[in-house]
Amino acid sequence: MNNHYDYIISGAGCAGLSLLQRILLQPALSSKKILVIDEKPKIINDRTWCFWEKENGLFEDIVHHSYDEIAFASNFFSNRIPLNNYRYKMIQGIDFYNAVMQYAKGFANVEFKYEKVKKLTTENQLAIVETENNTYKANYIFNSILFPGTINTSSNKTYFLLQHFKGWVIETPNAQFNPSVATLMDFTVAQKEGTTFMYTMPTSTTTALVEYTLFTKDLLQPIEYENALKKYIEEDLKISNYTIQHEEFGIIPMTNHPFPLHEGRVVNLGIAGGQAKGSSGYAFQFIQKRTKKIVANLISKNHPFYNQSFSDKKFRFFDSVLLQVLHDKKMNGDEIFADIFKKNAIKTVLRFLDNESNLLEDLKIMSSVPMKIFLPAALKQIFK
Ligand SMILES: Cc1cc2nc3c(=O)[nH]c(=O)nc-3n(C[C@H](O)[C@H](O)[C@H](O)COP(=O)(O)OP(=O)(O)OC[C@H]3O[C@@H](n4cnc5c(N)ncnc54)[C@H](O)[C@@H]3O)c2cc1C
Repeated sequence: MNNHYDYIISGAGCAGLSLLQRILLQPALSSKKILVIDEKPKIINDRTWCFWEKENGLFEDIVHHSYDEIAFASNFFSNRIPLNNYRYKMIQGIDFYNAVMQYAKGFANVEFKYEKVKKLTTENQLAIVETENNTYKANYIFNSILFPGTINTSSNKTYFLLQHFKGWVIETPNAQFNPSVATLMDFTVAQKEGTTFMYTMPTSTTTALVEYTLFTKDLLQPIEYENALKKYIEEDLKISNYTIQHEEFGIIPMTNHPFPLHEGRVVNLGIAGGQAKGSSGYAFQFIQKRTKKIVANLISKNHPFYNQSFSDKKFRFFDSVLLQVLHDKKMNGDEIFADIFKKNAIKTVLRFLDNESNLLEDLKIMSSVPMKIFLPAALKQIFK
């Protein structure tokens, strides 16, 4: 059958292409017949991924810039924090897309199609993709398309906020930035809309990505992001002479929606698989962990499935509690993050945000935020 594949990768963004790269690197899997479908080719630098890690990652060769120190600022606590064994890394979307596509070109068994995916189902032990004009079948579909209506935002069990941001890469004629320090969160900006911070990633003394980020229920008008960026660059960074080289806009769902890891032979990954951490929106490293596990299972068990571990459930619970506090405006995000960064070693904070902290570290983080707010939120979560 011509339209029958071993694997179909539905959605060729971060998760789909990370999985493809990992499959092609494994001799046991690299000759599988693979179809990759996306609605459009990846030819635009549509996002910048930043994340921290200790070791070299799979995409080390395309790391655009990295930092060994971060800055945190708020009205409650501000500091420059050395990352010790960690590095904060930046990858440009276009470098990632080009690297994976270039590598995949060496494999005649990998086919790319640009079609809009309409529906994914499982029938008679086969996974089926329906696009606008075609139907394709496979042993497994790896899906990273978040179909409209997937998240039930009206359920009283689901907390749903949007992490939305606009970023400008600006260039200045004179040296203005320290390229070895990334400002992870600067909460000293107005908090009237909800949790709001600026994020500044210098890549040289004269170039930086400056991003205005909010965790709120609703988006702003386009002009509001621009006004906030202008104000921050001019009044806080004290830069009056600059040019905008590039801009990006993004929306990441911050939710405790229970995304299924798989439905029949359709395996969900990326944001559609719940890999954007509910309380932070970071997804890149969670996508790497998920695709690594799927590939390990394909090799050792000949299937991609695994269920949520106790630890996954524990961190989902923590995310739900924090989301609930932010959603119900029980405490402002600037104060919560200030407490966490002020009262804990950076290693503990990063391990907690990575879903890797142990019970002792969890307790340390929990004891840094006010119990009178977080305990009732936790109980509400348990008895919901
Ligand atoms: C601007 C931006 C910056 C971000 N920065 C960071 C960061 O610094 N660190 C971090 O950890 N996370 C970051 N994220 C969050 C997350 O890492 C990214 O959203 C990441 O791209 C998610 O990967 P994904 O594969 O789930 O989705 P995507 O990369 O968006 O891939 C989904 C793919 O599905 C395709 N598609 C959608 N609908 C259809 C359809 N019906 N038919 C066919 N194809 C379809 C899309 O074209 C896309 O290629 C950022 C997100 C954005 C938007």
